[in-house]
Amino acid sequence: MFKGSKIYSILTGKCPRCHQESMFKEPHSYKSTKILEMNERCSSCNLKYQMEPSFFYGAMYTSYGIGVAVGVAIFVLTYAIIGFRPFYAFIAITIGLFLLYPIIARLGRSVWINLFVNYDAKALENHQSNKNIDTNKSK
Ligand SMILES: [Zn+2]
Repeated sequence: MFKGSKIYSILTGKCPRCHQESMFKEPHSYKSTKILEMNERCSSCNLKYQMEPSFFYGAMYTSYGIGVAVGVAIFVLTYAIIGFRPFYAFIAITIGLFLLYPIIARLGRSVWINLFVNYDAKALENHQSNKNIDTNKSK
């Protein structure tokens, strides 16, 4: 599914540079209380996810944008399509945002890191050849 594109990395939560493994320690959004814990580096291409201190604070902006889009979608669905009264539509938005929080927060982080890191098809080869150079030096 779109492997090699930013959409693939964003929707799957995979490393934005090599698309090989999940950035998150827990692969399932609802399985743990540690849904936002991330690996320090990609073990495939060695990309450091937290590029600078507090890097993922910026993900609050992207999460906010996604949250607003989800809220509007729930409002349109419940108010305009189903026909809820406004008060109940807003209760539906509150419940929807609460239930979808793990997905929205992870998507926000994936979007944020994908703004700064592009897919590199040769990232794996480069990392492997650097590893070989390092092991040769240490001998
Ligand atoms: Zn990687």
